[in-house]
Amino acid sequence: MSYLDYEVVIGLEVHSELKTKTKIFCNCTTEFGGEPNTHCCPICTGMPGTLPVLNEKVVEYAIKAGLATNCSINKFSKQDRKNYFYPDLPKAYQVSQYDLPLCYEGEVEIEVNDAAKKIRINRIHIEEDAGKLIHESGEGSIVDYNRCGVPLIEIVTEPDFSSSDDVRVFLEKLRTILLYVDVSDCKMNEGSFRCDVNLSVRKKGDKELGTRTEMKNMNSINFAVKAIEYEAKRQIKVIEDGGNVIQETRRWDESRGITVSMRSKEEAHDYRYFPEPDLMPIITSQEKIDEIEKSIPELPDSREKRYVEEYKITKYDARLIVAYKNMADFYEEAANESKNCKAVANWIITEIYGRLNEEEKEQAKIPFKPDILTELVNIIEDGTISNSIGKKVFVDCWESGKRPIEIVQEKGLKQISDNSQLEELVKEVIDNNEKAVNDFINGREAAIGALVGQMMKATKGKANPKMVNELLRKTINELK
Ligand code: ADP
Ligand code: MG
Ligand code: ZN
Repeated sequence: MSYLDYEVVIGLEVHSELKTKTKIFCNCTTEFGGEPNTHCCPICTGMPGTLPVLNEKVVEYAIKAGLATNCSINKFSKQDRKNYFYPDLPKAYQVSQYDLPLCYEGEVEIEVNDAAKKIRINRIHIEEDAGKLIHESGEGSIVDYNRCGVPLIEIVTEPDFSSSDDVRVFLEKLRTILLYVDVSDCKMNEGSFRCDVNLSVRKKGDKELGTRTEMKNMNSINFAVKAIEYEAKRQIKVIEDGGNVIQETRRWDESRGITVSMRSKEEAHDYRYFPEPDLMPIITSQEKIDEIEKSIPELPDSREKRYVEEYKITKYDARLIVAYKNMADFYEEAANESKNCKAVANWIITEIYGRLNEEEKEQAKIPFKPDILTELVNIIEDGTISNSIGKKVFVDCWESGKRPIEIVQEKGLKQISDNSQLEELVKEVIDNNEKAVNDFINGREAAIGALVGQMMKATKGKANPKMVNELLRKTINELK
């Protein structure tokens, strides 16, 4: 038997913090960071005698996420207590949802290695986040309750993934969707988008699922990918060695590049779920659902298709642009008035993306408005400036924020498309470059490149390259 005789089965539980201003059951701020224990109150720290009041925005955001992932919405939903003791959870229970989550049975389509695949969403429920334990070396642990009561959605998938590639593509897509619908800032480095990876292996062709392990709180897609690759091999080896995989929680140890056991099923909690008595059921009308549906912007898949059809750009380029909603908005605005939508896409993908990091791409942190890019593309398209001068004008726009036309005028960058002016120069270049001319006459086609280069040098890049090329050939042919 070899690794190839096995298949990997993965299901994800993704936690995403909602971007409400205040917490799920009180008025404390949800802002990240802050002095420890300054963003909390008796309600979010679970003092006896306090009563929670559900933040309506949490329900709205969760439904929005559900609709964007093709879920059905439970019009009658409720919250439940999940009981367990841990120092970062002062109430000793977490308010979550058990049998009636807000959203259920959705799906998200992903494309991996050119094949489309549907990942089914089992449910999306709301719950409160816990605090944070900070382990000080030698001094024990201290606790920061600021995160207690920050609203979360948990998105649980069916075990529909069969590789780390599937998982990577899905997590990227899900994150993009949540950013499009604007319900979470999905900052993996701040823990506002993290996932638990459940993984089992089985012999190819087997119907039954194998025993799974769960790797908790992966806060980087790269770590999740590495953990999956390691854990799949580990489980296969256990089975090949004649053993059984133990159902347990494991942790990815990034420094050692392995997964390590945290607790096995024997120690697993019985959460003793029961309906939360302090909170009313959540009843949502069809009107409310329709209203939320209307607030959802056009999603990346639909935009991708539309860009290919309307703007005639490649699927590959369209995907790079729709990956960031703000960039996609910028693209549409710039392309709509432009004479070359493909060129607009190229400028964004090469020059703009090249200057921005991930976060800046998400915010479309571009120092000029879309109409500047439109203008640049259009003056290249109509021959006012050459493409290579265009690159210089772009840099100037980026740095000074000036309009391309203004820069072209100020610096005298207009393309020379005047035949008589070019003819003079062509004669000069031919006289001064005898060797290249002879090479060309003797059939070395590439020699024309050197002559064009001389023309560009003489005109500081302003000569119309197409005209220069034609003129050079014509003039040399006449010499023959
Ligand atoms: P729990 O709530 O105890 O974590 P669930 O049954 O709700 O368990 O499953 C949690 C996640 O584990 C889901 O994403 C599900 O798809 C996945 N999962 C369940 N069984 C398996 C398995 N045998 N192999 C891989 N993933 C699994
Ligand atoms: Mg789980
Ligand atoms: Zn509070």
